[in-house]
Amino acid sequence: MQKQTSLPPAVDVLIVGAGPQALAMASRLMLGPEAMADVIPPQESYVRRPKDVRSHLKKLRKSMDRFAVVDENGKWMERWRNQFKALEISHLRSHEMMHPDAFDHSTLSVWAHANKRNDFLFLENLPKKQSYHGPFVLPSSQMMLDFCKSLVKLGRLDDHLWHARAESMRPSGSGMCVTVKTASGRSQDIHAKRVVVARGPTWRRQWPGFYYNLDTAAVAAIYHAWDLFDTPAEMKSLHGRGLIVGGGLTSAHLCAQLAPRGRVDLLLRRDRRVKQYDLGLHWMGTGRRDCRREYESSPLEKRMAIQKEVRDGGSITPELDAVISDLETKGQVHLHEWTEVVSASFDPSTSSWTVALNTNEVLEADYLICATGALVDVASDPLLGTLQEIHPLKLHGGLPVLSESLQWGRLPVHLMGNLAALELGPDAVNMAGAARGALRISKALAVAGLLEGPHKSENQVGNMGNQESRGRTGKNAKTEGHGKEY
Ligand SMILES: Cc1cc2nc3c(=O)[nH]c(=O)nc-3n(C[C@H](O)[C@H](O)[C@H](O)COP(=O)(O)OP(=O)(O)OC[C@H]3O[C@@H](n4cnc5c(N)ncnc54)[C@H](O)[C@@H]3O)c2cc1C
Repeated sequence: MQKQTSLPPAVDVLIVGAGPQALAMASRLMLGPEAMADVIPPQESYVRRPKDVRSHLKKLRKSMDRFAVVDENGKWMERWRNQFKALEISHLRSHEMMHPDAFDHSTLSVWAHANKRNDFLFLENLPKKQSYHGPFVLPSSQMMLDFCKSLVKLGRLDDHLWHARAESMRPSGSGMCVTVKTASGRSQDIHAKRVVVARGPTWRRQWPGFYYNLDTAAVAAIYHAWDLFDTPAEMKSLHGRGLIVGGGLTSAHLCAQLAPRGRVDLLLRRDRRVKQYDLGLHWMGTGRRDCRREYESSPLEKRMAIQKEVRDGGSITPELDAVISDLETKGQVHLHEWTEVVSASFDPSTSSWTVALNTNEVLEADYLICATGALVDVASDPLLGTLQEIHPLKLHGGLPVLSESLQWGRLPVHLMGNLAALELGPDAVNMAGAARGALRISKALAVAGLLEGPHKSENQVGNMGNQESRGRTGKNAKTEGHGKEY
C-alpha cells in the first residue's frame, strides 16, 4: 500500500500504537507463514541458520496491503525512545533474544554482527547454573532502536503509520468503527475488520493514595514519572532536593540521573529488591516451558496469584543497585524502605513540598515524582469501556478475561501487552509478551482469512522442546524436538 496523505477509511487490520508490541504484530503481518512458530527463545544456540537470518535481514518485504497503524506520537518506537532517553537507560533489561522481529530469536544478534555492533552488556552477576545457562547478553538501548528502525525500513512500515490518537470504538457490521483524532485535531472514523490494541502501559498512570487528597496547586506540581518521558525540557528543569516514590527500575534510573543535581530521597513501600530480570530466573531458564504450562492450565484466581508472586512488584537490576549504593555512600541518595507518604502539601509561593511519612518523619523537597507504574482498569478505560458495556467480559483485578487469541469475546478486537496478562502471563508487558501475543493474534487473523496461516518453513527447525542444544552451530540446532507452542 503506497502511503496516502489521509487516513484510509477502511482497512483489514488497524493497530493502535506503534511501540515494540505493535512492531511485533506488524512483523507477523509482514512475514505471514515465514514467521517463527515457537516464540520461546532457546537458552543457547539458535533455531534458524544465521545465513537464513542474514538473508531475511536483506529482504524488502511487502506487507499485507490493507493494514494501518495509528500512534499519538506519530513515529515508530517514539514513546520507547523517549522513555529510555529520559531515564538515560544505557542497556535493556531483557536479553538479546527478546525483540520485535518474528523471523527468529537470533535476528537482533545476527543484525548486530552484520553491522559490526558490539554495544552489548555482558552480565557478570548472573551465575551459570543447571537451571539457567543463558542468554547473558543485553543489547544497548540505541542498538534496539537502530535494529527496530531497520525492521521498519525493511517492511516499509512508515507507509502504514498515521499520526493519530484512537479515541473510541464501536462494532460496525462484522468489523469495528474506530474514531481517531488526527494530529491536526480532526476526527475521523476508520472501519477495520480487526483491531489490535497495543497502547503500552504508559498511557494511564497509577497514583499512590495520598495523591487523591492533594489540592489543585499540588496536583499541578506533582509529576508522575511518565510525564517526564515525552518532555525532555521538564526533566532538565528538575533541580534541588528531590523526593521519588517507587521501588522499580524507573524510580532507580530517575534517582541515578537526578542525585547529582541535589539530594534525592527514594521512598520504597517495602524492602529493596534486586534481580536481573523482572521475572524470576526460573521463568527464563530450563524450566520456562513448565512455568508457562502451569500458568496456562491454572484457573484465573491462581493466574492472578502467580502474576503477583512472579512480578513481585518493582525491582532493580544488580548493575543499577551498584549505582544507587554508590550514590548512597556519597550521601546523594537516601533510600527509605517500608516507607509511605501519609500526606503532602505544596507551597506555590516557595515552590516546595512538605511530605509527612508513615515513619513520622517529615521531608522537604523541591520536586516530587511518583514512579508508581500503570493503572489497569478496563471498566473505566475510555477506549475499551464502551466494549465492556456492549459486550461485558469478566474482569479480574481490572484485567479482562480474553480468549486464547487475546480477542474481546466475539468482537473483532485483540489486546496486546499488560491488558492481556491473564492469558499471556507475568511478562505480557515486555517484549517476550509481545512475541507471544503477536503469534496468538496472527493465528486468529489467519482463521479470519486476513493473513496466510503460519506454517513451518523448510529452514525453521522448530522449537527447542525440553532439549536444550549446546553451542551456536547449525548442527546442534537440528537436534531440537517439538513441543506445544506458547
Ligand atoms: C524503565 C523501563 C525499562 C524497561 N525495559 C524493558 C526491557 O528492557 N525489555 C522489555 O521487554 N521491556 C521493558 N520495559 C517494558 C516496556 O514498557 C515495554 O517493553 C514496552 O514499552 C511496551 O511496548 P508497547 O508497545 O506496549 O508500549 P509503548 O512503547 O509505550 O508504545 C505504545 C504506543 O502506543 C501509543 N498510544 C497510546 N495510546 C494511544 C492511543 N489511544 N491512540 C494511538 N496511539 C496510542 C503511544 O504513543 C506509544 O507510542 C521497560 C519499561 C520501563 C518503564
